[in-house]
Amino acid sequence: MNKNILIVPGDGIGQEVTAVGKRVLDRIAEKFGHAFTYDEALIGHVAIEATGSPLPDETLAKMKASDAVLFGAVGHPKYDNDPSAKVRPEQGLLKMRKELGLYANLRPIKLFDELLGASSIRPEILRGADILFFRELTGDIYFGEKGRKNDGATAYDVAEYSRHEVERIARKAFEAARTRRKKLCSVDKANVLETSRLWREVIQKVALEYPDVEVEYQFVDATAMLLIKDPKKFDVVVTANLFGDILTDEASQIAGSMGMLASASIGDGTGVYEPIHGSAHDITGKGVANPLASILSAALLLDISFGLKAEADAVIAAVDAVLKAGYRTRDIADAHTPQEKILGTSAMGDQVIANL
Ligand code: NAD
Repeated sequence: MNKNILIVPGDGIGQEVTAVGKRVLDRIAEKFGHAFTYDEALIGHVAIEATGSPLPDETLAKMKASDAVLFGAVGHPKYDNDPSAKVRPEQGLLKMRKELGLYANLRPIKLFDELLGASSIRPEILRGADILFFRELTGDIYFGEKGRKNDGATAYDVAEYSRHEVERIARKAFEAARTRRKKLCSVDKANVLETSRLWREVIQKVALEYPDVEVEYQFVDATAMLLIKDPKKFDVVVTANLFGDILTDEASQIAGSMGMLASASIGDGTGVYEPIHGSAHDITGKGVANPLASILSAALLLDISFGLKAEADAVIAAVDAVLKAGYRTRDIADAHTPQEKILGTSAMGDQVIANL
């Protein structure tokens, strides 16, 4: 198979982990006889420094022209500590999602058995948890009107959803549930929010087309509690942008570390695959970042954008084998991990590649 992959490392550890993700794609191409060609583009702080824009037109054009994008992270402490900055790295991310029509963010939360001890949740509660989140990505309070009034003393952000926006992600989530345990949990706050009442109404309507999928409706506050109390009860979860942002970070603790979780942002065009973690400036340049989320993002890319399921499974199996052999990056090591098995970013990549 011939494919063009755009590598967009972005900021901080995005640079370090994406380089490893790309090496894994190279190894897959070699092993399975595919021809992947790569181009690279700027986003975030590095793009602002180079061009003044967090998402230069050239990057956007390259994204649209590619078959899939392997993405790192955006962010820089300079902006985190300056809420008044007008040009910000995350504007690049939001614009990319809007321009590419990436309306669904998929986050598989699946724990590798070897890492049961790395989570702050008890192993007997975790074992067997396997959740697939669908977070809506282009609507909600993030994209509605925002501003200040009363001479700046009052601020507002408007949450908005259209029927169409809810319907298209609902279909993706129901389709996915069909290939899994056929359970869908729709999360909202319909007791309080009008957008949530529309959300629930649309899910109920789409559910009629999927009588084989069991649907449950839950308020976001209850979901936050149940994710920790009984994560095994969830199969596919579909929710709005803001609730999904928070719940998926909470759920990342089921997997033990932010450094383990991959995500896919999909719509009707090019898909973007990225770790859920940010640019992690506290560890940037130290060579200690966990590259497994980027490697697992590459696996999602192979599976979802290219339909290469065997190749994706080979990557996941290689990660599993490396963990079984006892290798860890610092973030997933525990008190029993021998010093010589604690690897840096690149060496962890070498181990995964050696297992492919
Ligand atoms: P973060 O995910 O960057 O880091 C949170 C903590 O997890 C840090 O202690 C970090 O060292 C650790 N961590 C994250 N990824 C790791 C990895 N691969 N290996 C080992 N440890 C890892 O979140 P933050 O600190 O809240 O944000 C830092 C910057 O990233 C901010 O500028 C924020 O805006 C940005 N951010 C970007 C994205 C994105 O690009 N999608 C997502 C979240 C945050």
